[in-house]
Amino acid sequence: MSRSVLALLDVRPAYTEMLAQKYDLHRWDLLDDKKAFLNQTGKDITALVTSAGFGLPDGLIDDLPNLEVITSFGVGYDSIDIEACRAQGIRVSNTPDVLTDDVADTGIMLMHATLRRIVVGDHWARSGQWAQKGAMALTRSVRGKKLGIVGLGRIGQGIASRAEPSGVEIGYFGRSPKQVDYRYFDDLVALAQWADILMVACPGGDATKGIVNAPVLSALGKDGYVVNIARGSVIDEPALIDALRNGVIAGAGLDVFYNEPNMDRAFADFDTVVLYPHSASGTVETRDAMAQLVVDNLDAWDQRGELVTPVV
Ligand code: NAP
Repeated sequence: MSRSVLALLDVRPAYTEMLAQKYDLHRWDLLDDKKAFLNQTGKDITALVTSAGFGLPDGLIDDLPNLEVITSFGVGYDSIDIEACRAQGIRVSNTPDVLTDDVADTGIMLMHATLRRIVVGDHWARSGQWAQKGAMALTRSVRGKKLGIVGLGRIGQGIASRAEPSGVEIGYFGRSPKQVDYRYFDDLVALAQWADILMVACPGGDATKGIVNAPVLSALGKDGYVVNIARGSVIDEPALIDALRNGVIAGAGLDVFYNEPNMDRAFADFDTVVLYPHSASGTVETRDAMAQLVVDNLDAWDQRGELVTPVV
């Protein structure tokens, strides 16, 4: 009999179909009576598919007494209670590496878009202001700036290697120095003081909650910019909104927000901010590769009791 798998969402239609052909697949998102399903079928479920964005509904794993494995779509796992999984012997996998290029590209794209004010420029041309009023106001050059990366992991290093040809100097903050030539800061305020652009690329979760706060933004200063492709939780959003409103910093490029998709509407008021709706990994190619890795992890578990990309 094939393994009973509970998919909390449809990661990508073709890959969900692939799972349905191999496994006894149940779709949580399509269930009318979730409680009745858990009562009747909860004990049969040994594998669960979710995503970094969807996470795990509170208490769900307690209703799946024979759950062995969770395969998650996305690299971040701050929305999954890893300690609870570890305590219950549930293995967890994610989808690292396959999304690094697109997310690093997005960090670079937002950096350039924010300093060069691409959205304002697009509107200037599109609305006819160019013809009516002449050239748009001058913008700021990326070349020659100091880029401070918060979290020099896979994505942070991808951003650093892409930023170097743009002529920026690179520094970084993390829990430990890496074997790289970039300047290491063991203090985030010191990194912000040094940097012109603060690029947030660390994991979310309790350890990094609100670490980009008012003192960090003040240290970055009135000509400084923040780019966040990590998690909205890493930035103290009310402090960021105050800093943008009061000219404490010059601007921000944001892919992620504290409350998604209901982001704080205050961000929409600033023409110094470039917004992107958590789409850093949102290309057909990368989302397919992520979905394939979800399937590969599940197959590896089913066939060999191993995970390709384990978290725990
Ligand atoms: P990674 O390779 O694990 O890198 C994370 C880096 O952050 C590590 O170098 C780590 O360095 C550092 N770090 C960990 N805890 C920290 C802390 N408490 N304070 C400061 N730095 C810390 O992960 P990745 O693949 O680069 O992904 C990074 C994050 O990007 C993910 O966790 C996810 O939240 C986010 N992400 C966003 C998108 C999107 O669509 N916007 C897509 C993919 C990923 P040390 O261990 O030396 O501190």
